[in-house]
Amino acid sequence: MYIVLLGPPGSGKGTQAEVLSKAFDIGHLSTGDLLRDILENKDHPLYPKVQVIKEGRLVSDEVVNQVVEDGLDKPKFKNGAIFDGYPRTPAQAAALDRMLAAQGQKIDVVIDLDVTRDVLIYRLLGRLVCPRCKRIFHKRYGLTECPDCRIELVRRGDDNEETILKRFEEYKDKTAVLQDYYKNSPAVYIRLEISDASRTAEDVQEEITERLRQHDVI
Ligand SMILES: [Zn+2]
Repeated sequence: MYIVLLGPPGSGKGTQAEVLSKAFDIGHLSTGDLLRDILENKDHPLYPKVQVIKEGRLVSDEVVNQVVEDGLDKPKFKNGAIFDGYPRTPAQAAALDRMLAAQGQKIDVVIDLDVTRDVLIYRLLGRLVCPRCKRIFHKRYGLTECPDCRIELVRRGDDNEETILKRFEEYKDKTAVLQDYYKNSPAVYIRLEISDASRTAEDVQEEITERLRQHDVI
């Protein structure tokens, strides 16, 4: 099974990807993680092409596609993958379709986490991070220090309303074409509207499972 997860920063994509990866016994493919692994290994054949990230530059589509294609050879993807943070453009989506087609596979499901502006702002503005273990907490739980590390939680510097709205608008602009690409593809397209900030990750996961059943995916 191959799943693409779409959603803006703060939509809970990473959490849902982990849950779905366990539920379907498929690998969670995060391009961020794959790129970090390469940056930690100077002998990796793609290292020279990926290290532009350190200069604050973006890795080209071609290189990202290569990173994903190599990554998919790892044993944890033998039953499939859930893609988180990739593809970001229709060109990347087309490249991914070709990679999978070469293996006799295809994207089966696209899950679009459509989180409203208000929910994102509530979640991200309330987000506190442990500087050591990087765990994220929401201030509604009333914690001031990390229960594991016993050090004070901090707000991320880029979590202010203006930056959040800008990232959200950029995300919407860029993603519209990708949404169209997948709506016109054979994959089952599931859009979840998340407009209530009190919805938990478990609620969202239950709805995803329910919708997958309705579409006979599981
Ligand atoms: Zn901690």
